[in-house]
Amino acid sequence: MGKIIVKDLKKSYGSNQVLKGIDMQVREGEVVCVIGPSGSGKSTFLRCMNMLEEITAGEVIVDDYNLGDKSVDINKVRENIGMVFQHFNLFPHMTVLKNIMFAPTELGKQTKAEARETAMKLLDRVGLVDKANALPGQLSGGQKQRVAIARALAMNPDIMLFDEPTSALDPEMVGEVLGVMKDLAREGMTMMIVTHEMGFAREVSDRVVFMDGGYIVEEGTPQEVFSNPKNERTISFLEKVL
Ligand code: ADP
Ligand code: MG
Repeated sequence: MGKIIVKDLKKSYGSNQVLKGIDMQVREGEVVCVIGPSGSGKSTFLRCMNMLEEITAGEVIVDDYNLGDKSVDINKVRENIGMVFQHFNLFPHMTVLKNIMFAPTELGKQTKAEARETAMKLLDRVGLVDKANALPGQLSGGQKQRVAIARALAMNPDIMLFDEPTSALDPEMVGEVLGVMKDLAREGMTMMIVTHEMGFAREVSDRVVFMDGGYIVEEGTPQEVFSNPKNERTISFLEKVL
């Protein structure tokens, strides 16, 4: 499990059409990086994958669930899709451990003891066992983001969505977060990552998607998109960021 099919996806806010017809497929275990200028619709696109945004037209199919289908249980879909945001969104009044245990216990997926065991394993995986009882406010940005990733993994999702996970971090903390993401990619997680980290996109992704003005303008392997971009908008964007 862990595949996504997007067909002619459109999304408007009032009269502002932000996504203008997006077609894309993500295979199981594939890592897709989404790049493009600010305002091109990257976050909106990602948010349509787990129903944080209502789709205006077209289809998004995640595994066996067609998200446009009114009978789809939104919670079932979300359980299988972890999301990590630029600004961490941890619960500030809960310890790191409680943050990670929250969803599985609240949703009745795990007992407290099971959730604690899972959480400690995940903290080990992101290198933060010693921070289990810290509050988010006591952590660096890089540590917070690693906790946010552990929290998203606690529901054992097949798909992980990342929206600029390193954009709010001081440069020296970017590497530790990208390192955790690289491990996930290697382990076969299906991932969609909006990022400005072009080096990371080149190294880790199976496919790079360039968005501009609500469309996918170009896509291909990292080699194709970064070394041999065909569309003039891709070329001009890459000239600015590389
Ligand atoms: P990106 O992530 O590529 O910077 P976004 O998806 O955040 O782009 O935004 C694309 C466009 O959608 C922008 O013009 C933005 O103003 C608009 N937009 C995004 N979210 C909302 C919202 N909740 N309500 C109204 N307009 C929005
Ligand atoms: Mg964005």
